[in-house]
Amino acid sequence: MKVLVINAGSSSLKYQLFEMPEGRVLAKGLCECIAIEGGCITHKRPGKDNYKVEVQLDNHETALSWVLKLLADSEYGVIADISEIEAVGHRIAHGGEKLKRSCLIDDGVIKYLYSIVKINPLHGPPAIAGMEGCRKLMKDVPMVGVFDTSFHSTMPDHAYVYPIPYELYEQKSIRRYGFHGTSHRYVANRVAELMGKKIEDLKIITCHLGNGSSITAINGGKVVDTSMGFTPQEGILMGTRSGTVDPTIIPYLVGEGMTIDEVEKMLNKQSGLLGVSGVSSDSRAVCDAAAEGNPRAQLALRIQYYGIKKYIGAYTAAMNGLDALVFTAGIGENDALLRQEVCRDMDYLGIVLDGELNRTLPRGTEAELSAKDAKVRTWLVPTDEEFMIAQDTAKLASL
Ligand code: AMP
Repeated sequence: MKVLVINAGSSSLKYQLFEMPEGRVLAKGLCECIAIEGGCITHKRPGKDNYKVEVQLDNHETALSWVLKLLADSEYGVIADISEIEAVGHRIAHGGEKLKRSCLIDDGVIKYLYSIVKINPLHGPPAIAGMEGCRKLMKDVPMVGVFDTSFHSTMPDHAYVYPIPYELYEQKSIRRYGFHGTSHRYVANRVAELMGKKIEDLKIITCHLGNGSSITAINGGKVVDTSMGFTPQEGILMGTRSGTVDPTIIPYLVGEGMTIDEVEKMLNKQSGLLGVSGVSSDSRAVCDAAAEGNPRAQLALRIQYYGIKKYIGAYTAAMNGLDALVFTAGIGENDALLRQEVCRDMDYLGIVLDGELNRTLPRGTEAELSAKDAKVRTWLVPTDEEFMIAQDTAKLASL
């Protein structure tokens, strides 16, 4: 069964065509600069040269029509006709309070997604545009929505209700939702497989560390807490996001003359690794600067390591133990120094790395990193959100 996975961002659209159930990637690519100058599409097929085309992409529907054209192109395509695509899976950042698991997309789902755009203003509109574009271009092909928030919907209320007036939760849906759920779900299930155990029997902490970062505690296959909250702003320091700060800083800065938009931009786009180091939001550049002796780059990294360490400690306490610690995403998969520093002096909790293996492991390899006698098993598991989306899509579209 051929399943197309779509991940629509505000000015970009990523796609992957899978052969399911085996999960073979037939083609994938990225449409960039949608609705702005400089539109282009990079189309990749395993074992073949990439194809790049520069083309004006007025909106997500135009981008999708190009994707479909490329997939069925006689020279660059991988299928004879788009009718071979039997289902489309959409990555959707926010499922609100109602969409607690992946589901077939119908009018009701789209209407609900419109109704929660207010709490998902950045990612909601492009995701809806992607779905509506597909509907127009692919008519009756079943579509499935896979939500970043849904894996976290098992959290108990003491983890998701903020200690502010309860009416704000009831009337304005202000609560912890959590994000990156598809990635946390994939690596948690994968690590259970690698350990030869049922996820129901494991206490796992998954660290998704990329441009955006979040940490999740999963007890018996169910999320019990996660570091991102009402928005992906909460939690540890990220590329440009501050993570958790004292909320009173916001009115204080407004009192000092900043507008609320400026404060929002500062916390979202000018903080984190970039804000502290003054070097870059890209962890590689910050690591290089730190290695050359830049004290602010070193400080930014120490804040990052310390933040991750605190969550691991807190979540181990929340679960009364830990069986597996997992690192994933751009930084988690590639940055051996970060893994070493986060796991340093954690032997009290049972976390001990095999330092040599951690340092020398080829980048992005699926592997266990813990020392032989460590009580907690530490793993590196490259994430694969698209595969997870294709799996849910194939399952729901075949019902
Ligand atoms: P993601 O959002 O998962 O794509 O991750 C992006 C982040 O991963 C950026 O901060 C990159 O600098 C970081 N990253 C990618 N490769 C490496 C690497 N080899 N070492 C350190 N960080 C890396």
